[in-house]
Amino acid sequence: MTFQDFNLKPTILAAVEEAGFKEPSPVQKEAIPLVLEGHDMIAQAQTGTGKTAAFGLPMMSMMEADGSVEGLVIVPTRELAMQVSDELYRFGKLSGLKTATVYGGTAYGKQIERIKQASIVVATPGRLQDLLMSGKIKLNPKFVVLDEADEMLDMGFLDEIKNIFTFLPKERQTLMFSATMPKAIRKLAEEILNDPKTVSITKSESTNSKITQYYYVVQDRERDDALVRLIDYKNPDKCIIFCRMKKEVDRLVAHLTAQGFKVSGLHGDMEQKQREVTIRAFKQGGIDIFVATDVAARGLDVNDVTHVFNYHIPFDSESYVHRIGRTGRGGKSGEAITLVSPNELRTIKRIEKDVGAKLITQVIPTRIEVQNSRQDELIEKIANTQITDKAIELVKTLQHDLDIVTIAHLLASMIQNENAVKGKDVIGLGLEEVELLIERAMQNRGNDRGRGRGHGGYRGNNRRRNSHGGGNRHNRNGRSSRNGGGNRG
Ligand code: ADP
Ligand code: MG
Repeated sequence: MTFQDFNLKPTILAAVEEAGFKEPSPVQKEAIPLVLEGHDMIAQAQTGTGKTAAFGLPMMSMMEADGSVEGLVIVPTRELAMQVSDELYRFGKLSGLKTATVYGGTAYGKQIERIKQASIVVATPGRLQDLLMSGKIKLNPKFVVLDEADEMLDMGFLDEIKNIFTFLPKERQTLMFSATMPKAIRKLAEEILNDPKTVSITKSESTNSKITQYYYVVQDRERDDALVRLIDYKNPDKCIIFCRMKKEVDRLVAHLTAQGFKVSGLHGDMEQKQREVTIRAFKQGGIDIFVATDVAARGLDVNDVTHVFNYHIPFDSESYVHRIGRTGRGGKSGEAITLVSPNELRTIKRIEKDVGAKLITQVIPTRIEVQNSRQDELIEKIANTQITDKAIELVKTLQHDLDIVTIAHLLASMIQNENAVKGKDVIGLGLEEVELLIERAMQNRGNDRGRGRGHGGYRGNNRRRNSHGGGNRHNRNGRSSRNGGGNRG
């Protein structure tokens, strides 16, 4: 199926082609025909599944570009307002459809001017309500879209949204998008939608299969070192590390900066300007790593994020899906890497069930393994490098004092120093140990009444780790526990 199969107008189709979209995503396949037929709609789909085009393309295809505001899109955050605006602008520019972006924290004047020239207004609830209540603007849109409705309710915008609708015409087509469908959402849908069609993209379709999901079992005190080791090993172009708390974000930013990574934190209460500057730096490559909380990363749409790290496993499956959806966007592949402590293994199992995907267990690579993989990359890179005239000159100059092998050794050392594997040695848990722990965790689950027994089993297991398991790992890292003992004695 292609976009040609929908009854979209030619200028919209041309814009889709220009955007490089080949095949409609599942939510687009279902939603576009329904919207074109004029139905109200409620659609459930996770982030990163192409919802903007799902409502934007059909809506814009039906617009007349008559100078009035024909479409209103309400989104939870300023960030999303800008993103959705950008995306809609791309689709609409060949059709003469302008967008205006409306959000709080900036002057009214300019925004009002833009609204007067726009066909589509993309707005956050607070500022939109202000403008409507104060009578500064009047809107008479044919299309109204609530994007990420569940997030808006989570952020406490229910009253604003209800109030906004009292200012909108009764005669309209209303579309609602939400990643989840709790009761409050269904209730709101009943109030604002008229005989809606339902679109639900099931889990297996919505979890992007291009994201490979791994988890690593570590002890809590090893988390920082494990993270550094994994970043070193995976060598991401761009990655986001998710934390539970802001405090943790700050600490990790400091830790990773000290290790020489190009890293920045993303805070919920960061000043907007600063936030934009940081995000731009991330998009353009000045920063390789973002450390963020769930709230701060809400709606963040950066292409080319190759890896998502969960420093801690999130509490619920929804957040997990949201987080990992920051990678593997626009048809690209990505990796999601989660650090868990042994007592979080049950959460992994629950997430696997909820998400309908399998997470692959792996063992933290040793320093040697990282070095070897680095070396392979390096060899390939060297083999593919073009020799420059300047380099020939440089070697000639060096040859005045040094023989060619020494020169080669020096240059290789220089490159290797730049590529040095960072951080301390990490012990982590071995695969066998993890398997055993999972087994235990699952047994404990099916055995809730026998809690005492379960606990006993667990402790016994830890003891085992200190003897056999621990010994194993020490070998793997080329150390022996006897040495440690000898030092003490
Ligand atoms: P959502 O709103 O569901 O989170 P978006 O609408 O923001 O998703 O789309 C996510 C990314 O995927 C955007 O960069 C968008 O340009 C891209 N995209 C959307 N639909 C397609 C498609 N059919 N083919 C390729 N890329 C797409
Ligand atoms: Mg969206």
